[in-house]
Amino acid sequence: MTSFSLSQLKLRPGEEHRDELEVELPAFEFGGERYVPVPEKVRTELVVTRANTGVVFSLALAARLHGPCYRCLGDAVLDVPIRAREYQATDPEDEQMTTPYVVANRLDVSAWARDAVALALPDKILCRPDCAGLCPVCGKNLNEEPHTHAEEQADPRWAALETLRERL
Ligand SMILES: [Zn+2]
Ligand SMILES: [Zn+2]
Repeated sequence: MTSFSLSQLKLRPGEEHRDELEVELPAFEFGGERYVPVPEKVRTELVVTRANTGVVFSLALAARLHGPCYRCLGDAVLDVPIRAREYQATDPEDEQMTTPYVVANRLDVSAWARDAVALALPDKILCRPDCAGLCPVCGKNLNEEPHTHAEEQADPRWAALETLRERL
């Protein structure tokens, strides 16, 4: 777990402290599938700014996840850029103004980064935005083998045309 100790921080209001940390991300379960961060350890920029009544934390990282495409089950790679912000009030009475990631004067950067990535995931993870998916009839990958089946015959409008044609 990567965390950042706040007790070492000697900042006056308006001053900031920048740090680069290596944060290990876990694999994400999403829609019943597993998405693995590559690389597992991402370089993360943390900026801590002292305000008059508390501390502002800013987190920036770029995660990359590998896993199956929602439509075709092929390999999908998803870039997840993260910019997040948390605030911790100096007055501990002010519970509305505290971040859950500060525990015992340490900022849990790992938990924050993990949650931020999980929140930033799209509805569907696709290998490409226009992925054609799998054929609903035969199950083949429509990206590799674009095809259609002779479903027209099942369409009643075509059946009506067929009857017309027979009469002619
Ligand atoms: Zn796909
Ligand atoms: Zn097919």
